Parts: sequence; structure tokens; C-alpha cells
Amino acid sequence: MADPIYRAPKGTHDVLWPESARRRALVGVFADIVEAAGYSEVVPPMFEHVEVFRRLGDATDVVRKEMYEFEDRGGRHIALRPEQTASIVRSFGEHRPNLPWKAWYAGPNFRYERAQKGRFRQFDQVGIEALGPEDPHLDAEVIATAWRFYECLGLQQVTLLVNSLGGPDDRARYVTALHDHFSTDIDSLSEDSRVTLATNPLRVLDSSRPEDADLIASAPSMLDHLSAEAGDHFDQVKAALTGLEIPFTIEPRLVRGLDYYVRTTFEFTSEAFDAAQNAIGGGGRYDGLAEAMGAPPTPGVGFALGVDRTLMACDAEGAFAAPDAPVDVFVVDTTGGEAALLITDELRRAGIRADRSWDDRSMKAQMRAADRSGAAQAVIVGDDELQSNTAAVRDLRGDGGQETVARTSITETLLARLK
Ligand code: AMP
Repeated sequence: MADPIYRAPKGTHDVLWPESARRRALVGVFADIVEAAGYSEVVPPMFEHVEVFRRLGDATDVVRKEMYEFEDRGGRHIALRPEQTASIVRSFGEHRPNLPWKAWYAGPNFRYERAQKGRFRQFDQVGIEALGPEDPHLDAEVIATAWRFYECLGLQQVTLLVNSLGGPDDRARYVTALHDHFSTDIDSLSEDSRVTLATNPLRVLDSSRPEDADLIASAPSMLDHLSAEAGDHFDQVKAALTGLEIPFTIEPRLVRGLDYYVRTTFEFTSEAFDAAQNAIGGGGRYDGLAEAMGAPPTPGVGFALGVDRTLMACDAEGAFAAPDAPVDVFVVDTTGGEAALLITDELRRAGIRADRSWDDRSMKAQMRAADRSGAAQAVIVGDDELQSNTAAVRDLRGDGGQETVARTSITETLLARLK
């Protein structure tokens, strides 16, 4: 066992191949889908002035308890980003792009959480944010984009939960109603929930502590506190999802972690694993956030999907497999290595993934390396081939056999064989 100092810090892990290739492919699928829907990539910094995240709300656990904060050498109060919506909205206020502004992002976030399966201190998310329109069809587009992404990955056991938190006034009335409800029997609440009740009554609904279950079950429903306008917005979102044939479940207790959501909120869970951490993504409307960050008042809606958990869902469903080999061709050269040097370069320039062995090893050792590489084809150059300016091309997996080809037609032969 290595010295603990030389192990990845708690809550983090190295992603090695082939999982790393699978992750990159997943982000590639995501990029294709969102770019086809008019979202363009934004790459915000991984740290911001801490105030940017404070705008998310002081009652938010992520902000209050889980941020990696520090003072930099210039005395600035900095935080590693715990999520990216705040950064994107900060970026919007800074650059004032034309509306609607449809942005996507991918990358790591940092939260000082209790590390467990599916809950890390550094984790990747992909997401989109759409700023400008209040149109309920935009909420539906955002939700549908995530849904289509899961479909493209081959996931079939994803559940979509939706709720409306109403406008800021509705939300405030509901928070008061909830506070009153929980206060009637405050002694039966868990100690943690009593603390939460004082700062953020909505979050008590998120508690999974058994002592809280009864009061949560009898709590008033947000949906009974919606204004006519918010109710109409929600109805239109639901009608649009139905029109798009995206199945959903209404979950009136869905409040989600961040404080700034209004109106539509949603979450995707995977039914394929029963871990506590089965939320694979979520999002909602945050119409007041831009203004809170000093930008012109601008509505917004978006989502963030957890890459790690989405891949866990893929594992559980046997979907979106990792690649089985890093290269297609392995070049074996027992004549000193110059042939391998030139042939691998030629193949790579033709777009063929190719590797070779090193240190002028025996034919047997090189063939073993070729097998281990997982390559489908080998190019073999021994003394005879060098003499006759040829190479042997051998199928390493199927029964495609071996043929001797001119040095000048190696690439062409492999392109045909790899089709
Ligand atoms: P949030 O930004 O908290 O709304 O989370 C959105 C999604 O990111 C969740 O549904 C998870 O899939 C993922 N996620 C959030 N926190 C973590 C974490 N600590 N570790 C791994 N994935 C996470």
C-alpha cells in the first residue's frame, strides 16, 4: 500500500483508460446533442470570487458547508466552483451576449461532501443554461435535451420528476406555510431538521431521517400555493413534455439543493441502481439569479447532469460501453525499429490508431505485446519483408488471415481491413 500522502485525496479518484475514453466519448455525445440545439460552449474558470457562489443563497448547503474556499496570495477570497450555473450567469453579466443566450459546459466541480459511492469531492458535470426567454417551451426544450441525451447513451431506466416552486411570492408564501406546519410539532423533528427549519424550511422536505417522515408526508403541497400565472406556466411545460412524448412524474416535494430555483424544477433519477445517490441530473428555472449578480434582470433555465453518476447508470444498465482497445493496429518490427518508426507515423497520419513495441525485442515478445494491446491488426516486418520491401498484415482477432503487401500499400490494406 502506498504512503497515504501519495494516494488521491479522499473523495477524488484517478480516471484511467478505458473509463477515461468513455468519459470523453460521453462528453462528445453531449456536445453533439446540445450544439445541434443551438447551445454554444462556455469554458468558465474553475474558481471565482467567493461572492459569485454566495449569490446562490446562504441557506444552500453547497455554499454554506461544502465550498473549498481560500485566500489567494493577493488577498482575494476565492472558491473552487461547487457548480457552474453561477459561473455561467456571472459570465453572462460580464459579457452581455445577445439574448437568448444558450450556453453549454462540461468540467469538474468541487464540494467538501461526505465521500461515499456516487458522491465525490471532485465530480464532473455537463450542463446547459438558457438565458432570456420566459417561454415555458424553453423549460420543455431544456428538459427534453437532457432526456434525448440519456436516450442516445442507451439508458432506458431514467425517471423524470418535475415540480413547480412558483414565482418568488408563491415560494415565500409556501415557505411560511411549511414553517408553520413543521413548527406545530417541532419536537418530533430530527435535530438536523430543526436547524434547517430555521434557515431554509424547504430543505426539510429533502430530509431522509426517519423521525421526519410523518411531518414531511403531511406537509402542504407547493402545487396548492401556485399563483394563476405560475400554474399556467407549469401547465404549459407539462403539455409540451406530453407533446414531446417524454414521460414524467409530478413530485410536489422536489425542491433540489440550490436556493435560487423558481417555477419549474426537475430531476432525473436512475432506477437501475438503488443507491441513495440515484439522482443523475437536475435543474430548473432561476429567473432572479442574473439580477442578483448585478446583471440586467434576465430569466434563465438550465440543468446539470452528473457525469460520474450517469456512467454508473450506464454500468448498471450495460449501456454505453467503454472502448475495448486504444489502438487498431500494432506494428511489429524485428529489423531494428526504423520500419516501425516510419510505418506507425504513416498509419497515424492516415487516421489509423497505431502503436508499436520498443527496445528491439524478439518476435515472440513483440507478438505478445501486439495481442495485449487489443489491436485488431498487426503489421509485421522481419528480415525477409525488409529485403523485399513488403510487410505482412495479420488479423489478430478474427480469421481474416495474413497477407504480404508492398510497403507502399500497407495503409490502403489496413484501411480496407478496418472498415
Ligand atoms: P446539483 O448541482 O447538486 O443539482 O447536482 C446535479 C447532478 O450532479 C446530480 O444529480 C448528480 O448527478 C451530480 N452530483 C452532485 N453532487 C455530486 C457529488 N458530490 N458527486 C458526484 N456527483 C454529484
